[in-house]
Amino acid sequence: MVKQVLIPLNKNPGVRPIGVGEVLRRIIGKSITSVLQEDIIESAGSLQLCAGQPAGCEAAVTATRKLFEEEESDALLLVDATNAFNSLNREAMLNNIKSICPALSTYVYNCYCTPSRLLIMGGGEIASAEGTTQGDPLAMPVYAVGITPLMTIIKKEALGKTSKFGPKLGYNPNPSKSWLVVKPELYNEAKQIFENTRINITVKGRAYLGSFIGTNEEKELTVTKKIQSLKEELLRLCQIARSEPQAAYCGFITGFKNKFMYLMRTTPGIKQYLKPIDEILTNDFLPAISDGHTLSESGRLLVSLPTRYGGLAIPILKDIADKEFEFSQYITSNIAQRIIDQETKSDMSQIHQVKTRKFECSIKRDTSYKEILEKLRRDMTPEKLRANDFAQLKGSSSWLTSIPLKEDNLLLNKREFFDGMLFRYRLPIKFLPSTCVCGLKFDVDHAMTCKKGGFISCRHDEIRDMLAKMLDEVCRDVEIEPALLPLTGETLIKTSNITNEARLDFSARDFWNRGERAFFDVRVVNPFAQRHKQQKLESVLKNNEREKKTAYNSRVIIIEHGSFAPVVMTNYGGIGREGEHFVKTLAKKLATKKNIVECKIVSFIRTKLCFALLRASLLCLRGTRVLNVKKLNIDLNEIELVNVQPNY
Ligand SMILES: [Zn+2]
Repeated sequence: MVKQVLIPLNKNPGVRPIGVGEVLRRIIGKSITSVLQEDIIESAGSLQLCAGQPAGCEAAVTATRKLFEEEESDALLLVDATNAFNSLNREAMLNNIKSICPALSTYVYNCYCTPSRLLIMGGGEIASAEGTTQGDPLAMPVYAVGITPLMTIIKKEALGKTSKFGPKLGYNPNPSKSWLVVKPELYNEAKQIFENTRINITVKGRAYLGSFIGTNEEKELTVTKKIQSLKEELLRLCQIARSEPQAAYCGFITGFKNKFMYLMRTTPGIKQYLKPIDEILTNDFLPAISDGHTLSESGRLLVSLPTRYGGLAIPILKDIADKEFEFSQYITSNIAQRIIDQETKSDMSQIHQVKTRKFECSIKRDTSYKEILEKLRRDMTPEKLRANDFAQLKGSSSWLTSIPLKEDNLLLNKREFFDGMLFRYRLPIKFLPSTCVCGLKFDVDHAMTCKKGGFISCRHDEIRDMLAKMLDEVCRDVEIEPALLPLTGETLIKTSNITNEARLDFSARDFWNRGERAFFDVRVVNPFAQRHKQQKLESVLKNNEREKKTAYNSRVIIIEHGSFAPVVMTNYGGIGREGEHFVKTLAKKLATKKNIVECKIVSFIRTKLCFALLRASLLCLRGTRVLNVKKLNIDLNEIELVNVQPNY
């Protein structure tokens, strides 16, 4: 399992062979790192920042900048090691890990005690005897722990000791790629001291861990250059968004956005350089994911909020840059201080403090989101207010936050994604007919209620079948559309449905109580329909629940000796009280059966419901209510004629 197939990565010039390990090995590696995370962090000490400490890189930048800017600091030496990962001395590494992090030792020993086979595509094979293997999830922690002793040795006299002890561990400093950032008045002196080392010397400053340390002028140059390259990447993402908006949006939120966030958190005073990015986000990216719609200023502010507040989590960077830098300083201040003090031993309480402080900052962020939202809501029309209410409901943004996986049926095409987006903000939807087949004016709300074409019942059946399917996992005797027992003279409350053919949507045994049969009925309502427009959302759900209850409750209790619960939801998400209780109970049962945390099941059910409702709504909106093909005259009786074989 330790052998790997090599894939050449174009490094222009030359190639770097990337080893991609067996999936099983990657899974094992990931599991081990996740279980041993605390051990790894603890044994790597507080100076080794690539072992998985939260905010480790940010702390390194903060500490280094602070150290360099101090009066008595003369220079900053940035050492580059040649092919660091691949040349780590394996024997030394295995020995170090054995004594520093015993918990990790056995697995690492088994993986690395003999040279692993690296297969070259198209034939050939190399034995890898040094370093950690690329593609191994343990590569980073193993490297981090394996090289730790060097950090203890070089605490002082870094330069001399690194070149003396480094190579023994497989750490070979590369002077031509190393830089000395020196204070201007010491430049000449530095030049003399480092004369024969081939180390580059500068007074301007250098990029460091994705940030910059040095003079303001050079910072401006570096940051502008970086932003320029990010700008090009973002424009490419806009291009993708035009045909695959869901993938582009997901890519932005889960990955690309973090590039800016990191830059803002580690580099002070870059607010003004972020303007071009904000412009692209507002003028290109947002229109690209919303079918060309350009947002007003308040609309832009709304989408900058997290999805749980009805936004899209696409921040206005210049507004948050300074605050994010401040947050990062606060979060990392104590770890950074330990780096400055060259404290080698790790202190787990500091690591936990980072988490607490991160949480504090997220609360502060949240407060400001709430303030912005409150202000925006004051100027919203009743319709937009209601749309925002819905967008804030639990689970109603799942279609935005889920990773678009085709296998899990979470992938939307551009039309679906655009419509979903315009739906969410009650924006005008393009390419709709003006009149419906039924003769009435066609708009979004008519589409959600028009019975023509059978889409309304499709929507209902879809939700019914989905809930019944999940129920079937945990209950016996699940039945779809169970017929109710006929009446034989029983007295029911007046409003009851007493027709003999009455059916409910689904039933199951042992759901609420052992042995009892539970009946359910689903209803999907449009909260923007004329009759609901004036009511509060809770009342809309409650009234619909009551209607169902008065029709069936007494009949189910008296005649079936069972229980009845209406599952009422709106086509924008949001479930009534009884439906919510049903979902939570179902989740609890599923959680026990599958041995998964309950909240994960709840969010799974919400996601499934969200996608089903969205798809159903889009079908109501875009489905063809008139059969154009009827005009074509195809007589199915001709099948026989066509298939007559000539009889030679
Ligand atoms: Zn109609």
